[in-house]
Amino acid sequence: MQQKEYADIALGLPVRKPFHYRVPPSLMDKAEVGKRVLVPFGPRKLVGYIVGFVGKPDIEGVKDIISVIDQEGPAISAELLSLTKWIAEYYRSSWGEAISAALPGAIKKGKIKAAPRNPAPEDIYEATKNYKPTLEQASALKPIFESISGGRNDVYLLHGITGSGKTEVYLQSIELALKMGKTAIVLVPEISLTPQAIEWFKSRFGGVVAVLHSRLLDTERFIEWKKLKDGAARIAVGARSAVFAPVSNLGLIVIDEEHETSYKQDDAPRYNAREVAIERARISGATVILGGATPSIETYHKALSGEYKMLKMTERIEKRSLPKVDIVDMRQELLDVKDAKIFSRALEHAISQVLNKNGQVMLLMNRRGFSTFINCRKCGHVVKCRHCNVSMTYHYDIKKLSCHYCNYQADPPAKCPKCKSGDIQYFGVGTQKIESEAARIFPAARIARMDTDATVKRGSHKQILDDFRKHKLDILIGTQMIAKGHDFPRVTLVGVISADTALNLPDFRSGERTFNLLTQVAGRAGRGSEAGRVIIQTFSPDHYAVRKSVDHDYAGFFDEEIKFRRELGYPPFNHIIDIKLRGRNEERVIKAAHDLAAVLAAHIEGKDIDLVGPAPEFISKIKGQYRWSMFLKGSKPRDMCGYIDKALEGLAGKSAVTIAVDVDPLGL
Ligand SMILES: [Zn+2]
Ligand SMILES: [Zn+2]
Repeated sequence: MQQKEYADIALGLPVRKPFHYRVPPSLMDKAEVGKRVLVPFGPRKLVGYIVGFVGKPDIEGVKDIISVIDQEGPAISAELLSLTKWIAEYYRSSWGEAISAALPGAIKKGKIKAAPRNPAPEDIYEATKNYKPTLEQASALKPIFESISGGRNDVYLLHGITGSGKTEVYLQSIELALKMGKTAIVLVPEISLTPQAIEWFKSRFGGVVAVLHSRLLDTERFIEWKKLKDGAARIAVGARSAVFAPVSNLGLIVIDEEHETSYKQDDAPRYNAREVAIERARISGATVILGGATPSIETYHKALSGEYKMLKMTERIEKRSLPKVDIVDMRQELLDVKDAKIFSRALEHAISQVLNKNGQVMLLMNRRGFSTFINCRKCGHVVKCRHCNVSMTYHYDIKKLSCHYCNYQADPPAKCPKCKSGDIQYFGVGTQKIESEAARIFPAARIARMDTDATVKRGSHKQILDDFRKHKLDILIGTQMIAKGHDFPRVTLVGVISADTALNLPDFRSGERTFNLLTQVAGRAGRGSEAGRVIIQTFSPDHYAVRKSVDHDYAGFFDEEIKFRRELGYPPFNHIIDIKLRGRNEERVIKAAHDLAAVLAAHIEGKDIDLVGPAPEFISKIKGQYRWSMFLKGSKPRDMCGYIDKALEGLAGKSAVTIAVDVDPLGL
């Protein structure tokens, strides 16, 4: 029998070392791996998790565990313990932080029972039947079925164009897993987790579906979690953290739109739910389906190399044709039209044609506000936020300048703050300016705007979409919020005001982002009986991300993108580990960055690892915090983390500067 005299306790603190406590004789029967305990920590009492027992503690004067919270079974299963340990090691967090990310808030606070709730009427769903799969769906389902019934840990990439019917493949695969007595997890990007999407699952599977997402209250989340843990629910549908759903006997994990950036968590543990899902499936022998129209470069590369199995769906259901995409070269437009406007002649003409035929139009502009910067014509001074190194955006509706990073607001200056000249000009285009231009050119059209400014009020987001769906609106203008998932059969024209906003960001993923956005937004056109059309305005018509999106050619885009990634050694050919430094004192941040870089350079000397930087970030100050960073590029992330650990050990006492390490970041 194992000695239980001392326990190794994981605490939800950003400290990566073991915490040992004594198990008093009275608690020895109850103490078990995976159970929550209450322990003293300095003057406080904290909830911790037993992750193991040790024969001899690391430190002297160990304290006693106060109590064991879980009376029945452990709060966290052995499977999730191994998974969170993997996360802590790979993403360089503490085990306790990883366990905390895996559990709902109520459990972390030490609660035992779900709060009683008024028996709200459960929605009753009439069970829908399976659709007869199309030929393409059937040929995707065949190997997936074999994997699930064989209990094989295979990873599939289901690469299907928008509208090809991937959801039906997910649903029938889940059904098989359930029939075999297994459970399933479905991950969906937060933004696509609409009531409509939830209904697909509930109407097919009824009460065995539990939904987990960030808009739930703590108690609601706890109830859903409990249903899964007790086995009352056997399918977990949710955003990122649903990858930790407490199901047992897992048979299948589905990840829809696997390339989505919302699968990556911004703070510690900085995990990517896609990679965590693949690891969880490996631990429990489950099958994985990664789905999407524009897979991430990493995933597609693995599918081509045979590490994942590739399944393709190239036809839209009911043979709807893909929309025709046209490019407007804005350089030429500026040459042809003296006072060229926001809308090119081609786009303006196309909009009026659609409106005449009583159709609907969507216009995408990936920037909020009216004018994105204002400057002085005499001395060139640009008005910037006093807390951040970014230009202020003019918001027409409130007649104020606003900072999009810290929300600081100020009145627009009548005179240049630097040279006192009155010659101030407003530059750049945001969604509000598009709205006012559209209203001027098409005075009879009913127009609405959807961006975070227009949707701060709870429910207004849904209201705008409802109005648009019911054709109470003719033109919907928005940021990328409008690009995803929505199905509007009457939209026959989508206009992209500028494809260049994402393309010009200094990030090695800017091409991938641009291609994804253009493909996604193009997928909004022509979802009804009428064929759709897309017009993309750009100053970079020759960039492959723009060109290949015109032809809906993912494979062609991938071929170009992978060349550049290989040449520069970017993912998927290497891993990147980003190190970010933040602080209010600029000199200290700069010094810490250079000190760290020097120590790190010594540690990696002779190893096949590149150190890039340190350098100030693209936006060098936000909310009064100066921002510097550097990154390592190499093939072995664990080794790289080891060198970072060593370098940081030697740099104690730099407390005025905070340092965050991000393994496999999605943006630089
Ligand atoms: Zn001036
Ligand atoms: Zn600011």
